[in-house]
Amino acid sequence: MTEDLDQLRRLARDVFAKELTPHQERFAEQHSVDRDLWRRLGELGLVCISIPEEYGGGGGTFAHETVLLEEQARALDSSWGNSVHSGIVAHYLLNYGTEEQKHRWLPRLASGDLVGAIAMSEPGAGSDLQSVRTRAVRSGDEYVINGAKTFITNGSQADLVIVVAKTDADQGAHGISLIVVETELVEGFRRGRVLDKLGLAGQDTSELFFDDVRVPVSNLLGGQEGQGFVQLMQQLPQERLIIAVAAVAGMEMALELTLDYVKQRQAFGRELIKFQNTKFELAECATEVAVARAFIDQCVERHLVGKLDVPTAAMAKMWASERLCRVADRCLQLFGGYGYMKEYPIARIWADARVQKIYGGTNEIMKEIIGRSL
Ligand SMILES: Cc1cc2nc3c(=O)[nH]c(=O)nc-3n(C[C@H](O)[C@H](O)[C@H](O)COP(=O)(O)OP(=O)(O)OC[C@H]3O[C@@H](n4cnc5c(N)ncnc54)[C@H](O)[C@@H]3O)c2cc1C
Repeated sequence: MTEDLDQLRRLARDVFAKELTPHQERFAEQHSVDRDLWRRLGELGLVCISIPEEYGGGGGTFAHETVLLEEQARALDSSWGNSVHSGIVAHYLLNYGTEEQKHRWLPRLASGDLVGAIAMSEPGAGSDLQSVRTRAVRSGDEYVINGAKTFITNGSQADLVIVVAKTDADQGAHGISLIVVETELVEGFRRGRVLDKLGLAGQDTSELFFDDVRVPVSNLLGGQEGQGFVQLMQQLPQERLIIAVAAVAGMEMALELTLDYVKQRQAFGRELIKFQNTKFELAECATEVAVARAFIDQCVERHLVGKLDVPTAAMAKMWASERLCRVADRCLQLFGGYGYMKEYPIARIWADARVQKIYGGTNEIMKEIIGRSL
């Protein structure tokens, strides 16, 4: 931590307590945050905080994104899709965009005028991204995109979607390219339903359809076809670290909420904390949280100096998400029936946790990656 990061933490805590925490029920009902929220938080400098100032960002690092992720967890919010928008989409543009592309899109992402999404998964291809069926066929100065995507975070609000598409259908990984679609500027783009999920009720995870969508060839990310798979592989460690950071923050919140509860709730004439089982459960949880915190902090430090390798990022994602699910489940148990009530934040933490073992590459795929490196 530095003074600068401490200051950001104080600001984020204050802002999220007003802008996120009190609105959870509404976000859940409408399956999205308010569109205005992006602009308001953009004005406060909390969007694209790790993007250089010359492109309209906050000029920070991944440490700044980490602080925001932690404070979002503390605010008990899982609705605002900033980690995808700022932590993932903006970094694809920053790392692979041409100067013209960066100046064209990043300032509007940073201000919240554009909301970003990345569309990899399809009904028939999730883990196996090489088999995506979305096609981008060159026609003069344009690409014509056809395909269907599913499970897309920020899908109902996104105005800028990075689409994973095949520019050469005869090639596997080498035929994949990333193409940016500005949804307001094209015809043939359609949003499907906002998907009804087990958790993350306030997120607008959606289906997206592309029917003869035409974009200029200048929307090809990086300007060279066939680079998409390599670009994805290079960016996925940051995406996985984001999941791991959020998982540790979620575990810490689960533990804190449970400690408060068991010190007040009484059974058989004494507080729950006085039962040996409660102490032992929480002792194990606290130990898992402490170990997770140490490992993930180390991963963040490595990432900040460009030394987080792919298998270690996979370990972080797999291990932290597994532990989050375990800790959330054990904590929920200590709330008894109240733990099963949606109005209790522990119920939301439990439900939101489950997907972390699935998205960003399933934990089975993480084990494949780790196993291959041994
Ligand atoms: C809430 C939510 C948000 C999401 N957000 C986005 C997003 O913004 N953008 C996006 O592109 N995608 C997003 N996803 C999709 C997510 O990344 C995929 O669901 C995930 O990668 C798994 O793909 P799949 O669902 O097709 O499962 P499948 O690939 O069909 O896997 C099914 C099962 O088979 C296992 N399996 C597959 N291959 C192997 C193997 N080689 N070895 C062992 N086991 C294997 C998997 O681990 C899993 O258990 C999101 C998903 C959810 C639920």
